[in-house]
Amino acid sequence: MLVLNKGFNYSQDGPGNRLVYHLQGCNFACKWCSNADSIPVDNSKAKQISVSQMLDEILRSKMMFFDGGGVTFTGGEATLQAAELLELLKLLKANSISTCIETNASSPRLSDLSEFIDYLIVDIKHFDEDEHKKWTGASLANVKKNIEALLDSGRQLHIRIPVINGVNVNPEAFALYFSKLKTENAVFEFLAYHEYGKDKWLGKYQIENGFVGNDVINDFMQTFNRYGLKTVST
Ligand code: SF4
Repeated sequence: MLVLNKGFNYSQDGPGNRLVYHLQGCNFACKWCSNADSIPVDNSKAKQISVSQMLDEILRSKMMFFDGGGVTFTGGEATLQAAELLELLKLLKANSISTCIETNASSPRLSDLSEFIDYLIVDIKHFDEDEHKKWTGASLANVKKNIEALLDSGRQLHIRIPVINGVNVNPEAFALYFSKLKTENAVFEFLAYHEYGKDKWLGKYQIENGFVGNDVINDFMQTFNRYGLKTVST
């Protein structure tokens, strides 16, 4: 598998303390991406690591997976490497390791992978197809199709919305969409825009004035709660 980097993180990439792998390559190009170096499929800084090497490394880290922790695959877009990822996820489940994926939810392989994922985190960046394409370079249709199928199946889902001034600040539109779906086992989180990865764009960063205040995040939480949708902060 092509891995850009890895490290431990507590609670922000799934439950407990987790070994987080950033896999190389993404099929979106979100203009605010904080991991812009993970977007190209080729990157000389990324390392090819076999499934068996990764399994070995993960098993050796087992004592670090405290408080319900385990392994998280993120990106880039982890599902671009679906075949190897599925092989690794099966091995991890056979070894009783907790698995988590953070995904843009666009992959047609997501339902195959889902069976071997204990904690699934999906992003949705916009509620409108044209605006989604404008800001991410990709269609919203597959994202919605996958999220709707996952919710229909009744599985746990952690749905994240990055909140960006001038891009998607319309809590009512998001909440209205989700209020029509089966969200009993879903929680929603709102991530305020930041610029921690701006330097990785090497001067090509295009978002201006994207910051939002706590009042905007609170408005998202209150609106979702009003529609009966559960919200969390990590
Ligand atoms: S989906 Fe995630 S990794 Fe891919 S471009 Fe968007 S923010 Fe970056």
